[in-house]
Amino acid sequence: MRYAENILETIGNTPLIKLNKVLGDDFPALVLAKVETFNPGHSVKDRMALKMIEDAEKDGRLKAGGTIIEGTSGNTGMGLALAAIVKGYHCIFVTNSKQSKEKCDILRAMGAEVVVCPTDVTADDPRSYYSVSKSLSESTPNSWYVNQYDNLSNRQAHYESTAPEIWDQTEGKLTHFVVGAGTGGTITGCGRFFKEKNKDIQIIGVDTFGSILKEYHETGQIHLDHAYTYITEGIGEDIIPENYDMSVIDHFEKVTDKDGALYARKLAKMEGIFCGYSAGSAIAALVQMKETFNSTDVVVVLLHDHGSRYVGKIYNDEWMKQQGWLED
Ligand code: PMP
Repeated sequence: MRYAENILETIGNTPLIKLNKVLGDDFPALVLAKVETFNPGHSVKDRMALKMIEDAEKDGRLKAGGTIIEGTSGNTGMGLALAAIVKGYHCIFVTNSKQSKEKCDILRAMGAEVVVCPTDVTADDPRSYYSVSKSLSESTPNSWYVNQYDNLSNRQAHYESTAPEIWDQTEGKLTHFVVGAGTGGTITGCGRFFKEKNKDIQIIGVDTFGSILKEYHETGQIHLDHAYTYITEGIGEDIIPENYDMSVIDHFEKVTDKDGALYARKLAKMEGIFCGYSAGSAIAALVQMKETFNSTDVVVVLLHDHGSRYVGKIYNDEWMKQQGWLED
């Protein structure tokens, strides 16, 4: 008999799938999508959630029967919830009102408590989801505050699992790695692994307008007044999390909320790959950068999460029309 001992054993070993149509007939390079929706929680975050829990168990930050507290937009919460169920922990997740209602409902279905905070406040405001998650962790006994932003087990998970898989799948032939950037875990963990193997591999982060990541990468300066609210989910930041090592990133490409949404829809219709908003942004970034690629390039684009979490938004025609992004 061949079976997994539990759901956690099914994390990883996701497929690499060639993109054939969504980039247009004349796209110069071979583009392979690392489709992370094949993880049991339907996102890449299962990998780092498990790694963060295992590391916290090892050094005693997380104890038997404890409560896991995190500020999460959903995917990390899903990964943490899966591991918590198998390992016997309770979860409280703090999120913001910009996130899809579906994402919160899914977390509740997995047995977690979900607290929703306003999105239009700065990170240091006591109502922000950063602040609320911190204060909850101080008042809840036997709890552990995960902090995926500054918890370096996040990037280490990608260094140990995501990147080596891609390296093996491409037989070390990749020339570019394109990925949405939020906490910085995926881009830094993978970027570091690839640069150690071959420093010529180009590491390209996908950012949104309204985020400070690209400006910080290019100038080393943080201008909080340059940050503004955007609609894209999962990527962009108004802080620079500890997980970043900007030295392994070659370039940030900014994508509009509209293009991210439109390309996610195209990816579904033209490739049958049903992914989330940041996946659309990554595809849009590739199209914007088309002129920089050539026929010998092997580009890997990582698609973070599943489209089912966005059915009320980018996959809803009425919502798209309300944004003015869809013609009648
Ligand atoms: N896309 C989605 C949908 C996400 O949930 C996240 C995590 N915030 C990212 C992209 C960015 O990944 P990372 O946090 O590893 O930079």
